[in-house]
Amino acid sequence: MSDLENTLLTWMPIVFFAVVICLLLYTIRFMPRAKPAPVVKGSQVEVSWSDVAGLDEAKEELHEVVEFLRDRKRFERLGARVPRGILLHGPPGTGKTLLAKAVASASGANFYSQSASSFVEMFAGLGAARIRKLFAEARKNAPAIVFIDELDAVGTARAGGGIHREHDQTLNQLLVELDGFSGRDEVVVMAASNRLQDLDAALLRPGRFDRQVLVSPPDVAGREAILGVHTRDKPLAADVDLAQIAKQTSGLTGADLANLCNEAAIVAGRSAAQYIRHADFDASMERIVAGLQQRRVVSEKEKRILAYHEAGHAVMSHLVGELFPAQKATIVSRGQALGYTLNMPAEDRYMHTREEFVDLMMVFLAGRAAEQVVFGRITNGAANDLERVTQIARSMVFEFGMSEVAPSRTMRADNYALSEETKRLRDSEQARLTDFAYEEAQRLLAKHRSSLDRVAEALLEKETLDRVELEALLSDVRPESRSSETIGTVRALPIRD
Ligand code: ADP
Ligand code: MG
Ligand code: ZN
Repeated sequence: MSDLENTLLTWMPIVFFAVVICLLLYTIRFMPRAKPAPVVKGSQVEVSWSDVAGLDEAKEELHEVVEFLRDRKRFERLGARVPRGILLHGPPGTGKTLLAKAVASASGANFYSQSASSFVEMFAGLGAARIRKLFAEARKNAPAIVFIDELDAVGTARAGGGIHREHDQTLNQLLVELDGFSGRDEVVVMAASNRLQDLDAALLRPGRFDRQVLVSPPDVAGREAILGVHTRDKPLAADVDLAQIAKQTSGLTGADLANLCNEAAIVAGRSAAQYIRHADFDASMERIVAGLQQRRVVSEKEKRILAYHEAGHAVMSHLVGELFPAQKATIVSRGQALGYTLNMPAEDRYMHTREEFVDLMMVFLAGRAAEQVVFGRITNGAANDLERVTQIARSMVFEFGMSEVAPSRTMRADNYALSEETKRLRDSEQARLTDFAYEEAQRLLAKHRSSLDRVAEALLEKETLDRVELEALLSDVRPESRSSETIGTVRALPIRD
């Protein structure tokens, strides 16, 4: 063997291994890792408070957060506990991301914005590592805002199966971080979600995302304001009437309206016009509404039915006294619900009388009752109301011993000692209560038909009525004090079978 061969033999394996190691290092370098979270200085965020139109309530709630990030000491001196976890929720395109950016910009805090879908990784543990890193960095660079957009991607209720293990780890890490805040941290966590009802309940517990800010689709005034923001820098012809366009776009969100303004500019540009004319808006409206298909766009006829339905709820809560005052009535659709009337108990109470339960059922049934009284026909719009009513009647009879046939006896479904006879009685008793409430609701609404018309007209005009406006509309209507009467009437009803 020559010297040369000898040298080759010793070096060949060494060179070979060196190459393999280099290749390995190279691969590792490009493997996914928990990248440092991108940070933006709040003052560089290009969204200002004035870019967010409408949404006055949401803006007001978030103003507090801005103040806190600007001057924490002021709040601490007063012993205030400022919310740390704020969840913006509402349908897509209503301005949640926009709001978060506006908060960052107004507060000047460091802004860490990540979409939750970027945490969902095929590599086990990576999502969790990213979250850990994100929060660590935010804490280091306080005051800071961590914004987790599209929280649904990790936050939906945990499934038991093994496939979702990675998803669970990510969610768990997020919970750990939320719990890990000390009183001194100047970090506010914001998140946005389209589906509050699907979120894991653990996320909503006290100390986590315990402040929820509803970002609802705009009503007619809100739509006009949004159109104003998005036509601010566009040359409009004199015939453009934003108020008129706002009236015609019930059901559209902020994103839809931004889109509409942009489309109109494009249509105008195509004809080489100097200004955007009303006709351009009309043309783009048709395209946009067609693009949305059946989604959310409510016809005039449906709007009338909806207005009466919601007016029914509002008038009835006034008529039954101030126990469940209507805080707000709206025919602006939100998610699944076409419209809604928000009733809040006037005070926190744990006890209710039998009459009050009947009143409450009447408030829930008044939407359908109004449809029946006014149009002589009913729609599927009351499904949710009916469910609530069924629940109340069931609890009254099954649990609270509030039935006529067997007062002071619970008749729970899990009580096997119940005879068939008792079960039948129980069910008919439940039906009797519900029927009574429905008939009574119809009677009262027919009696107060002019008030019902007044509220419905106002809803058609303004789309949303707050408590003060509702009270003003109903100021001359005296509540029907029928609580004790109700008992009498229910008692007098024959038991049906
Ligand atoms: P979300 O996060 O709720 O899905 P976005 O904040 O992403 O909605 O909104 C998308 C776009 O729609 C925004 O960038 C903005 O142009 C427009 N937009 C939505 N809501 C509003 C609003 N209230 N005021 C002004 N513009 C809005
Ligand atoms: Mg968004
Ligand atoms: Zn209803």
